Amino acid sequence: MTILRARGVVKSYGPTPALRGVTIDVAEGEILAVTGPSGCGKSTLLHCLAGILRPDAGEVSYGEHRLDTWSERMRAKLRRTEFGVLFQFGQLVAELTAAENVALPLLLAGTGRREARTAAVQWLDRLGVADLADTRPGEMSGGQQQRCATARALVTEPRVLFADEPTGALDSRTSEQLLGELVRVVRDQRTTVVLITHDATVAGYADREVPLRDGVLDPSGLGLTAISGRH
Ligand code: ADP
Ligand code: ADP
Repeated sequence: MTILRARGVVKSYGPTPALRGVTIDVAEGEILAVTGPSGCGKSTLLHCLAGILRPDAGEVSYGEHRLDTWSERMRAKLRRTEFGVLFQFGQLVAELTAAENVALPLLLAGTGRREARTAAVQWLDRLGVADLADTRPGEMSGGQQQRCATARALVTEPRVLFADEPTGALDSRTSEQLLGELVRVVRDQRTTVVLITHDATVAGYADREVPLRDGVLDPSGLGLTAISGRH
């Protein structure tokens, strides 16, 4: 079943379009990697699929919902309840402990403090960093920070996780450890993942890789690199 759908998506910031008509279906439960060199439009595509940016032309759907026709207010609400996002630099709040950072999305959604704390510690445990619950980001390694950021992205149990170069700031060993954990957890939760990367090793963790070049999907690569079940 298709969970996310883009049809002819065009998006420009200035005179040159960053996306020039992208059509793609993301199946529920799949881990999709969007790959390509810096500047080819990967982040822009992710932002359009996640309802962060509204396309200039074309359609973006989440299930039966036409996100491109929705107001920012409605898209923001949908993002809070259905989507999780993970960026290259975890963007943890420096003043808060790991558990407080991970609890934040639940508190914003109205969950009580004690319940949010319990869930946060459980998610830190799933990512192998429960011992850091009361530690602040400044005292953690980059890999530990990204594990906390991953816990924060998943604590609301989103149906889709959008990850933009999630291991881009990590060395290859730490990167592969985090990806291994991430894949295990999202398989367990049946979370759909849209993963952006310019790194072939990272893309190897996905079920399917979609190459983007200068704002269009590379037709020669489309669908031919399906490697379901590799991990
Ligand atoms: P990628 O994620 O593949 O590096 P992006 O989607 O970030 O690509 O960028 C695609 C193109 O759009 C690039 O030429 C980039 O400079 C441009 N771009 C991205 N974001 C903005 C922005 N906020 N304002 C102007 N240009 C942008
Ligand atoms: P990435 O390759 O991961 O997208 P970038 O360094 O291209 O990272 O972009 C980082 C941020 O800067 C993004 O929010 C993007 O929208 C913005 N950006 C990228 N290119 C431009 C640009 N030419 N003008 C303004 N903002 C830009």
